[in-house]
Amino acid sequence: MKIDILTLFPEFFSNILNWSIIGRAIDEKILDINCINVRDFSRNKHRKVDDYPFGGGPGMVMTPQPIYDAIESVREEKTKTIYLSPQGKKLTQEIVNDLSKEKHIVLLCGHYEGIDNRVIENYVDEEISIGDYVLTGGEIPAMVIIDAVTRLLPGVLKNEESFQEESHYHGLLEHPQYTRPRIFNDLAVPEVILSGDHSKIEKWKKVQSLKATLIKRPDLFSSIVLDKEDENLLLEIKKELDENS
Ligand code: SAH
Repeated sequence: MKIDILTLFPEFFSNILNWSIIGRAIDEKILDINCINVRDFSRNKHRKVDDYPFGGGPGMVMTPQPIYDAIESVREEKTKTIYLSPQGKKLTQEIVNDLSKEKHIVLLCGHYEGIDNRVIENYVDEEISIGDYVLTGGEIPAMVIIDAVTRLLPGVLKNEESFQEESHYHGLLEHPQYTRPRIFNDLAVPEVILSGDHSKIEKWKKVQSLKATLIKRPDLFSSIVLDKEDENLLLEIKKELDENS
């Protein structure tokens, strides 16, 4: 996959590109990331990239010309151009899964008060938000997308199962995880996961996953279809929780 980041602050990305799993994906040529400085495309003699908003209001708005030229410099036939924006569709694992299947993504990072709306309306395919709050720039949201997408690319994680079991991938939260030591500060790990009995462990993981979702994020159930077996498990868990409350 190829990702072009259009930003006024390319140096912001230098760490992430050398970093752990993303760095490895780049080394192994699974991922090709370029940072493009939008300012380099300014045709203004002072390399200006922003201006006062028409109609008044606080702050500065990024002007369309440098952004348009930067987009045109990287756009190919199958490019998906994304503007990171608090007004966008809220990022979910489902959106991340879809993005991970793209060949070429352009991530456009705004700054100041944002960008001229003509760019959004005419040259952007999708606006994506990382949550209902306002940040100073699109750089951190772009990193969030890069991180979430990279770990899904084939060959990036050692064991493909490691993301398929993870929270949100199938709509539920993941079961709790434990590691050595077996007893820490008198706190023992659940006996069943030490039993070596795989079917028992699988069942425990499923029950814990349903339970975690029920307790922490019950809203997620409205967008998941459970099979009969899981539905029965969920009913049992609810009963047990009611009895203990
Ligand atoms: N005035 C704009 C906000 C500008 S914030 C408005 O009210 O809609 C400056 C830049 O930060 C934006 O151009 C965008 O690229 C980025 N940004 C801010 N919050 C974001 C969020 N929640 N998700 C994604 N990008 C965000």
